[in-house]
Amino acid sequence: MKMPVVFVGHGSPMNIIADNHYTRSLRELGRTLPRPEAVLVVSAHWQTRKTLITSALKPQTIYDFYGFPKELYQVRYACPGSPEKAALVEKITQQKALGDDRRGIDHAAWAVLLHMYPMADVPVMEMSLDVERSPAEHYELGKQLAPLRDEGVLIMGSGNIVHNLAQVNFDQAEGGEYDWAVKFDRLTEELLMNREHNRLIEYEQLPGARSAIPTNEHYLPMLYSIALQEEQESLRFVCTDIQNGSIAMRSFVIDE
Ligand code: ZN
Repeated sequence: MKMPVVFVGHGSPMNIIADNHYTRSLRELGRTLPRPEAVLVVSAHWQTRKTLITSALKPQTIYDFYGFPKELYQVRYACPGSPEKAALVEKITQQKALGDDRRGIDHAAWAVLLHMYPMADVPVMEMSLDVERSPAEHYELGKQLAPLRDEGVLIMGSGNIVHNLAQVNFDQAEGGEYDWAVKFDRLTEELLMNREHNRLIEYEQLPGARSAIPTNEHYLPMLYSIALQEEQESLRFVCTDIQNGSIAMRSFVIDE
């Protein structure tokens, strides 16, 4: 059976320990999606030259966030990895699997997956973002991942469509969203529903893009997810919250 594709907004690391509308939507998602043999996370938090894929058998939990409460650094997500599936990703995409355990998984993966799969029993791999690729080239690489869907791999872009850290309000998770953030989020909703992928790839031309996407590492994982949408498949939103004023948690599933 063909696995669905997801994009998840991950937002503030405080969601790791929060019980809110967003984290509950992730729990629901984990319960309702067909169970994957492995998850491949395209991570906003791993930027490299060339595209890399993790292959650790037991991926370390990476705490790639700073200045948050101590308890966040005590959470460990002890999921397995999958060297076999990583080798398959390497073969299908012609990109490089590390072949060892030198890199674990960052919070773009585990902060989300600990809500979706709290038992940490689904193998997890990560794919990096090649800093030298254009948005269109990221989208093209996304398309190449398609055969993995027939191999039980759940492909998950993890970032945020609207993500402005300069304007973020970490003290207030809910309420207080900026008008420009709401506006841009709604615009992308419309473009996603209408499958206007070219406009989403050329996001710099969209009104408000400068505030919503000051840097694109959180936006690009979304292009991998939509690249995999097939003709007969639809896209449905599982969360449309905006958190901390300037972070869109908009998350979606693509399936038939
Ligand atoms: Zn992030």
